[in-house]
Amino acid sequence: MPTKTRSSSKRSLAKYKEKRNFTKSPEPTGAEAKKIRKKAGKKLFFCVQKHLASHLHYDFRLEHRGVLLSWAVPKGPSLNPSDKRLAMMVEDHPLDYGDFEGVIPEGYGAGIVMLWDQGTWTPLTDDIDAALNKGELKFELQGVKLKGSWVLVRTRDQRTWLLIKHRDEWSGDIDVLTAAPLSVKSFDDFDDILAQENPDVWQSHRPAGGGVAGGMFNDIIRRAAEKKLLKTEGKSKGKKKTATKKRGTATANR
Ligand code: MN
Repeated sequence: MPTKTRSSSKRSLAKYKEKRNFTKSPEPTGAEAKKIRKKAGKKLFFCVQKHLASHLHYDFRLEHRGVLLSWAVPKGPSLNPSDKRLAMMVEDHPLDYGDFEGVIPEGYGAGIVMLWDQGTWTPLTDDIDAALNKGELKFELQGVKLKGSWVLVRTRDQRTWLLIKHRDEWSGDIDVLTAAPLSVKSFDDFDDILAQENPDVWQSHRPAGGGVAGGMFNDIIRRAAEKKLLKTEGKSKGKKKTATKKRGTATANR
């Protein structure tokens, strides 16, 4: 039998791939891990994805041994050191997931993924595997929204952790989730991301039938459809404007 240390330091994407059908999901397969590796340079990459699926949650991911260690944080990260945010460890994700934003039309994780934060992380330990095994990983984040010193502490079982901000110049009372709700990649909100796809994608088959997420989905689908319509109208108006302008310029030149 492999020891605990060995089994948890050996990372694999088998579970990630097993859960997904890449002919139906636009999620990365891991084939383009290099672009993320390049992005972070000599540092380790980190990201947070805001994911509206059956429930709204935030996926917190730290690069380690060629994959992204991943935790689902239902309430999202908090800058307040007295908040201990539940973080459920989930399967390792491929590095190129770190740039992913889009719509998962069906299957596992069906919903909308927004790249909510991205940057690098610095472990405050020489041995990340040992810290993970011990169940206490201290680190610093150099993100767009999340910065400074943090800790992940394991609680009652292997999967259940708490994400806690340490007190420093980047901690405080401000609710970063509502103060900075948009994507760091596209600067878009969920409805904009959906509007780039087909807003009707879930008309018949909604990932969340009821509950809070279900209500949010209904609003987002409606707003996305409206935005898509406006965009289409805007485009045809834009064309007319350009044509008028050109004519105007031609007249002036004459
Ligand atoms: Mn998720």
